[in-house]
Amino acid sequence: NSFDESNLHKVMKENIELAKYKVPTPVQKYSIPIITSKKDLMACAQTGSGKTAAFLIPVLSQLFGKRNLAAPRQQPGVLRKIKSEPLVLIIAPSRELATQIFDECRKFTYRSMMRPCVVYGGADPALQKEELAKGCDVLTATPGRLKDFLERGIISLRRVKFLVLDEADRMLDMGFEDDIRIIVQKSDLVNDGDRQTLMFSATFPKKIQDLAQDFLAKGYIFLT
Ligand code: AMP
Repeated sequence: NSFDESNLHKVMKENIELAKYKVPTPVQKYSIPIITSKKDLMACAQTGSGKTAAFLIPVLSQLFGKRNLAAPRQQPGVLRKIKSEPLVLIIAPSRELATQIFDECRKFTYRSMMRPCVVYGGADPALQKEELAKGCDVLTATPGRLKDFLERGIISLRRVKFLVLDEADRMLDMGFEDDIRIIVQKSDLVNDGDRQTLMFSATFPKKIQDLAQDFLAKGYIFLT
């Protein structure tokens, strides 16, 4: 019933303490061991349940053990024209949610080599591109802007080890299904088979069940 007992990287335990999270919420209690044991997961979780930390903590903790995976740091003022190749891709329906997830990413990547970034629609793409060029290991994105950056070759999904779909039901309600399928297919084409896929949704209608069947193909754990 504490984060300390769990099998998490030392740096992650320190960051959890800095965030002043003392007791895992129910969704965190159940998700963390499942994700840490490298299984795919479809979890029903509402906003406010602590679902963001439920995936960020075990995902980032696994990466902290592999520091050499982090993107090379950029010298200030020297922006190379390289593609961003995140290790973690989190897709969220809205700018507000993406920003909230990014804020949690900052807390949990604090003492690590991992650099978080966020991209969303309705804002200047040039500034977002500049941030990506400084190095991007953990990317939170809304579907439209992500698809645009992928098509323009700004982002590559070649190195994605963890793919998270947050508030999947809302993304379908907002008409993002085609974009999401294109994005996931792109990351599948280059994925070497050890990628973990995690889906979070407040509701579990037929359309979400179908999406889970398609994306979590190797068999997954369903958490209500
Ligand atoms: P979420 O459901 O991910 O939007 O999280 C809701 C709020 O709860 C956020 O402000 C988190 O920072 C906070 N939170 C998440 N997990 C914990 C925890 N274990 N202890 C205290 N606060 C938490």
